[in-house]
Amino acid sequence: GSQAMDRSVDSVCPFCGVGCLVTWQVRGEKIVGVQGRDGPANEGRLCVKGRFGFDYIHHPDRLTAPLVRKPGVPKRMPEPGADWRDTFREASWDEALALAAGGLLQLRSAHGPKALAGFGSAKGSNEEAYLFQKLVRIGFGSNNVDHCTRLCHASSVAALLEGVGSGAVSNPVRDVEFSDLIFVIGSNPTSNHPVAATWMKNAAQRGAKIVLADPRITDLGAHAWRTLQFRADSDVALLNALLHAVIDEGLVNEAFVRERVEGFDELRAHLAAFSPEAMAPICGIAAPLLREVARAFASAKNAMILWGMGVSQHVHGTDNVRCLIALAAITGQIGRPGTGLHPLRGQNNVQGASDAGLIPMMLPNYQRVDDPGALAWFENFWGQPLDGEPGYTVVEILHKALAPDADPHKIRGMYIMGENPAMSDPDLNHARHALGSLSHLVVQDIFLTETAWLADVVLPASSWMEKTGTASNTDRMVQLGRPAVAPPGDARADLWILQQMAAGMGLDWHYPGDESGVAAVYEEMRLAMHGAIAGITWDRLLCEGSVTYPCLSLEDPGQPIVFRERFPTASGRVRLVPAGLVPGDEQPDADYPLVLITGRQLEHWHTGSMTRRSEVLDAIEPVATASMNAAEMARLGLVAGGRARIASRRGSVELMLRRDDGTPDGTVFLPFAYREAAANLLTNSALDPFGKIPEFKYCAVRVAKA
Ligand code: SF4
Repeated sequence: GSQAMDRSVDSVCPFCGVGCLVTWQVRGEKIVGVQGRDGPANEGRLCVKGRFGFDYIHHPDRLTAPLVRKPGVPKRMPEPGADWRDTFREASWDEALALAAGGLLQLRSAHGPKALAGFGSAKGSNEEAYLFQKLVRIGFGSNNVDHCTRLCHASSVAALLEGVGSGAVSNPVRDVEFSDLIFVIGSNPTSNHPVAATWMKNAAQRGAKIVLADPRITDLGAHAWRTLQFRADSDVALLNALLHAVIDEGLVNEAFVRERVEGFDELRAHLAAFSPEAMAPICGIAAPLLREVARAFASAKNAMILWGMGVSQHVHGTDNVRCLIALAAITGQIGRPGTGLHPLRGQNNVQGASDAGLIPMMLPNYQRVDDPGALAWFENFWGQPLDGEPGYTVVEILHKALAPDADPHKIRGMYIMGENPAMSDPDLNHARHALGSLSHLVVQDIFLTETAWLADVVLPASSWMEKTGTASNTDRMVQLGRPAVAPPGDARADLWILQQMAAGMGLDWHYPGDESGVAAVYEEMRLAMHGAIAGITWDRLLCEGSVTYPCLSLEDPGQPIVFRERFPTASGRVRLVPAGLVPGDEQPDADYPLVLITGRQLEHWHTGSMTRRSEVLDAIEPVATASMNAAEMARLGLVAGGRARIASRRGSVELMLRRDDGTPDGTVFLPFAYREAAANLLTNSALDPFGKIPEFKYCAVRVAKA
């Protein structure tokens, strides 16, 4: 490289929502090492991904020039070892941008604004998320904009907005330090939020009781006071039984309910039918154990609830979270240190991307597009007319791509920045067919992902380590990422690409300053956020590096704990919503007798495009595996290390078996990071009606020796 000098760059880990601060050691144009920095979420700690997962940015597969699809090449997944040159040719930025924006413009004028849609990404910065949704809303002219929050915590956010008036966490993870009881449900934090898991384990060491409730007992189970290995799909039965027991045993926090809760009487009446004794056969947990846990939770000085995708990715995901809100509310376990509700966010910026408005029904800061006042405010702020009809969500958009030609809402063109729906969406055969049948697809990414293989134009983008930008972690901390190296070849900063696309679609944007005007974009977003981050100016971020919102003024240190006095609902109180038992969409039967649960593993991140190109992480976990317990394998005549074929009604994969006795009988667990055995070929695209999140955590499969 030109600059041979070694240097250190302070930034944020690119992976999970814990938001660990890091320092990268750089030699020339290469990152050669990373150290944990003393950040508020990590105090120097890092997991294996943060510590070793940085070298993907130097992988020879990086896109270094814009690509344009050769005429007549069919849009389908590449054969193993396929050469991209048979499908694409390199192009100049001028040509690629003209084709990318021109194709979208053409579809808009032929079919109207609703023919277009965009997926942004929670892997990008707040500034990119903000600008992307602005481009779709103004440049495309519709609200068809979404991102992977739809696959992650959309149901949690729906329930939280309804119940407590805010979709974010009430207390930071580090608050487990002040908890006497830590209720973890539907989450495997050791793999998915590893540094957060270390804080939980530290709390257990000083005497806090961990309750782990999950169909799959993972590493944290060894640190738990009680484990509730409930039957997959029976979450609401389990949680309603706990709520029933709290009321039945006289452990309701009467003063809290009187002053700060609404809907308690309706909830109590609804819960009459859900005694622990009645629910025990459904959820598979003995009634005395349910009662013991309910008592411990309600009578703890401080009890905190943390949950993950095991709760949210169900057709009853919103109902699951309604129950969790009720549990915190009727026991008064919210609004103080060591209490509250914490949906553990998956990606480094899924909180921020949602806050910035990268969702179809809401403008920045959760202002509803169908609220005329909110819409008028943004029309004035952006100086452009806006559409007041909520757009389609991720899975709906792909369904609409396959709608008949006569459908006025058929999606015909898409712009996808940093997402990989051809791996991450449910029912991949359907999703890939939908992406492949678009008339025009523009993909902006750092690798030729499975989705990019289906594109008409591919725009080579920047990795997290190659740009300035902010990300908001699971604790609501806005944290500053800084560039360590320049993007390779002709790859460009995403903010620059976004502004070129906007210009190509006829928008006259001007964000002055260095590096694509990131500071100017941030400052515009800060104003668009209706006060939530009013006190977090760009200058303050440069200086402090991490500030928690809500932060109302420059003097406000930030508010890690919210709901101390009131809830930001219309009445100022928590609104309780009773939940009934809604079974999973596809139940096991004679043909497909087992249940499939998908998820992640420690070393691999989401669709694997980054971590599988990281030498150390790939060396630790090089091949796709399916986990089953020893007894279940024996029943099916399978052996650990052998190969199995797993099939659902939608597809099948073949992969190696591994023994995991924490996986319950009748169940198989698959990580979704492996393109050669893509778990989402099997999953069901049935949606939760409120959050529109697909049911990744429950579908019927059969497993046989391959
Ligand atoms: Fe990165 Fe998350 Fe690991 Fe921290 S816990 S180092 S943010 S992947």
